Amino acid sequence: MSILHVVSVSGGKDSAATAVLAIEQHGRAACRFVFADTGNEHEQTIEHVAYMARHLGVEIVTLRADFSAEIVRFRDYVREQWPRKGVSKGDCERAIAALVPTGNPYLDLCLWKGRFPSRTRQFCTHYLKTLPLVEYQMGLIGDGACEAVWSWQGIRLNESQSRMSRLQGTGACVRSFEVMGDGLFTYRPILRWTAVDVFDAAALYGLAPNPLYLQGMTRVGCMPCINCGKDEILEISKRFPHHIERIAMWELMVSMASKRQMASFFPDPDREKHLNKRGIHNVVEWSKTQRGGQLMDWVRIHEEPKACESAYGLCE
Ligand code: SF4
Repeated sequence: MSILHVVSVSGGKDSAATAVLAIEQHGRAACRFVFADTGNEHEQTIEHVAYMARHLGVEIVTLRADFSAEIVRFRDYVREQWPRKGVSKGDCERAIAALVPTGNPYLDLCLWKGRFPSRTRQFCTHYLKTLPLVEYQMGLIGDGACEAVWSWQGIRLNESQSRMSRLQGTGACVRSFEVMGDGLFTYRPILRWTAVDVFDAAALYGLAPNPLYLQGMTRVGCMPCINCGKDEILEISKRFPHHIERIAMWELMVSMASKRQMASFFPDPDREKHLNKRGIHNVVEWSKTQRGGQLMDWVRIHEEPKACESAYGLCE
């Protein structure tokens, strides 16, 4: 049976090690590399993925989800159905005017859904990464490029507690290989690796880490990710304020398209009790505080971002 090994590259350390491992075990000709560009990536991550392709001597195919058809269909739904649901003519017209595809996958997904994803409704991963990747992989089989695809996922158990529970359950058996059906298999080769292991694997190929790791970021996925912690939000606001401004603009655009006229990237830090605390600028203000948001933490606020500040000790 002919097999292609498809490695999903995120621009982060784990997928870099996984790419190196796939090349090492199967050679470049048997591997394919894909990068799901969510449209909410940091420019340094986009550059790093291009650098990885050059350095490893491979092509990394960029996948970008397209929601223009869904937005157009939803606009028709708003025009026909919202008035029957008691929504005022002015509100319908406002939403219809806002429901215009922008070509940015993340923003268009949120315009279509009328909201941003959240930790409890994390639909971004499904629509922006999983679906485009599965479509690409099934396309390889459908086009006759191979009879089966091993989908390599660069995830590690000790990266998060929820991941450990999901993949390991209560026993010692870890789901490192799964049959998905129709010729598709999932392979997770670095489940038990540590952060040091993955940096070492990439270093064997002389592959430099994403420069964002040297600027206080613990993850280099979306900028920001809905799962960002308090310190990471503060760090982003100090180092990359243009991304905060972009999210503020997206909040306005998605609010215009939503029935409630309100959409915020992060929920209110105070468990959504105070609607006036929503919005990225308010969340950035909260990230400067300590003790439940009551006291301003002046040291954290005024500390200049250091040139090199890696949570993984990369700057040592
Ligand atoms: S990195 Fe975060 S925001 Fe981006 S798709 Fe994944 S969960 Fe969603």
